[in-house]
Amino acid sequence: MANNEESRGLKSLLDWFANRRKSGSTNLERQEREIADGLWHKCPKCGVLSYTKDLKANQMVCSECGYHHRVDSDERIRQLIDVNTWKPLDENLCPTDPLQFRDRKPYIDRLKETQEKLGLIDAVRTGLGQINNLPIALGVMDFRFMGGSMGSVVGEKLTRMIEQATQRRYPVVIICTSGGARMQEGMLSLMQMAKISAALQRHRDSKLLYIPVLTNPTTGGVTASFAMLGDIIIAEPKATIGFAGRRVIEQTLREKLPEDFQTAEDLLKHGFVDDIVPRTQLKATLTQLIALHQPLPTTAPNMVLWETVKLSSTAVD
Ligand SMILES: [Zn+2]
Repeated sequence: MANNEESRGLKSLLDWFANRRKSGSTNLERQEREIADGLWHKCPKCGVLSYTKDLKANQMVCSECGYHHRVDSDERIRQLIDVNTWKPLDENLCPTDPLQFRDRKPYIDRLKETQEKLGLIDAVRTGLGQINNLPIALGVMDFRFMGGSMGSVVGEKLTRMIEQATQRRYPVVIICTSGGARMQEGMLSLMQMAKISAALQRHRDSKLLYIPVLTNPTTGGVTASFAMLGDIIIAEPKATIGFAGRRVIEQTLREKLPEDFQTAEDLLKHGFVDDIVPRTQLKATLTQLIALHQPLPTTAPNMVLWETVKLSSTAVD
């Protein structure tokens, strides 16, 4: 009798464990499904699950540990530009395949697939808009498009945007994220570095403000050109910023590099970056910097001063 009861008790205990395991796995499955559906986001740094809506409200920054999740160009524009003021430029500029390049697959097919998947034509979006009522020309790179690589379209779109900004006397802000030049366009993508830099020099000659914002990751030809040419260079916390990759440098130098090598924090320490600004404060910081650097009216005070000097000298005569 006691034996029977014992075995029944054991069986129910085993059932309970089995059920628990089953419901546990269902919970896990549901959780995974919801993460896949985009309802929840798991922080890769601290592992905390956040409701995507809350995370978006906090500009995709983990409220637990401050980790900056990657943000696409749409979301960036929403975060920075005042509602209903965004006017995109050169939306239909389309990449071509002048070298008929192929690696594992032809470049032209890779382009078409990425364009269809993302609804983007290339790796940068440019436009004019307002940031807290101040006019601005903004370029936003999108890492999802072939690693934010800089090909002819990225170069041409940024150059045209900077030229528009020079004409209109607007400040330029570029949100950088890139794996570097687009190898599938060879030399043509390297040329873009010089082209954008020349346009920025003309913008600078007109005494206008340019602020690059370096986000994770900013590397290669982008770092070697417009990302480092700012009047004020801002980076996002913990962003990887560098030219060649860490592994390549380690192999070349045959030396172990420090943990924080190529981080925004290390670059700030060595003077390559002027400030590290958390994304939640980026719009306010950019607004403040742009407001402080508003271009002078065309009747510049020093001209007025010169006229006064001339007048006074005439009066003495
Ligand atoms: Zn976190």
